Amino acid sequence: MNKITPQPGIMDIALYQGGASHVQGVQNVIKLSSNENPFGPSPKAIEAVRDSAATLHRYPSTDHASLRAAIGEVHGLDPERIICGVGSDEVLQFIVQCFAGPGDEVIHTEHGFSMYPILARAAGAIPVSVPERERRVDVDAILAACGERTRVVFLTNPGNPTSTMLPEAEVARLADGVPGHVILVLDAAYAEYVDGFDGGAGIVDGRENVVMTRTFSKIYGLGGMRVGWGYGPRAIIDVLNRVRQPFNLSSTALAAAKAAVLDREFVEFCRAENARLRSWLAGGLEAAGVYSDPSNTNFILARFGSREEAEACDLFLQSRGVIVRRVAGYGFPEALRITVGDADGCTRVVEAVRAFREDAG
Ligand code: PMP
Repeated sequence: MNKITPQPGIMDIALYQGGASHVQGVQNVIKLSSNENPFGPSPKAIEAVRDSAATLHRYPSTDHASLRAAIGEVHGLDPERIICGVGSDEVLQFIVQCFAGPGDEVIHTEHGFSMYPILARAAGAIPVSVPERERRVDVDAILAACGERTRVVFLTNPGNPTSTMLPEAEVARLADGVPGHVILVLDAAYAEYVDGFDGGAGIVDGRENVVMTRTFSKIYGLGGMRVGWGYGPRAIIDVLNRVRQPFNLSSTALAAAKAAVLDREFVEFCRAENARLRSWLAGGLEAAGVYSDPSNTNFILARFGSREEAEACDLFLQSRGVIVRRVAGYGFPEALRITVGDADGCTRVVEAVRAFREDAG
């Protein structure tokens, strides 16, 4: 063969469709499509970024010891069992890359995060989608889907874009039920929005095949920095570190993340504001006849009567400079995912949805 050919599975990957950030011809656009923190990062993280400029000629730390120590201190976790990546996306990628190969199966749930099937295909593995029930993860269906070729099971908890949550006892039942050769990944990107939730760290402890992943892109407001982390059994973290590039995180990103995780006051402020604005937003949408499940995250899955209505509302919102996310690709053609913005953002969405519904008669 004298032709350049990608590895099997690669051409089955659809190019990632991110949320738009502008609308042609519309001024004063507000972006509520990527679950970003409307309050930005902690001022301490911004200061740390500025300070990091003095050492930009130096390579960054390879072992991320200082950031891992800070994360460990804040969450009461052993830093030796933490790995940091370029967003939690990279940690998820390490897991699939290290543990799944051609012909293996990677399970995710019907409405799970869109990166899981991409990562599976990139490794030549087969993504297997397991149905959910009424926008809730079905543990029995996942367990029934696990077989000899299953290598990884991804659980997004709380869910994106569902915003629902699988109770801890059910997560434990899943962890106990998956075969020993399967790694269960508890993707807790939105954990900080749930009061008193440890993201599943307690379920990782005492088990040999469960890993939790977290991100600095959501409540920490550092999506642009690309930092995430994973917590798991020593043996698994050791494997993942072997494929990690030695300088995967920039010194600027490391400094920003460390300052952000240590600023608990700012995290508390964001959590409380999100909860307050989220219930105001859900109430406003409901008053306009648009319903959602109680949200455990920083976004709402707003359900319309039909795909046509959801798409028409999306276009109407865009014309008013409000960008939200279509989620047909996640199995919700009749819904829009709306990030909880600041007070101004929430007001603009509610007013626009109300005007849309009034126009529609
Ligand atoms: N998991 C879930 C459920 C997400 O929603 C996201 C971001 N959209 C990620 C992981 C990846 O986050 P990041 O790579 O920015 O840490």
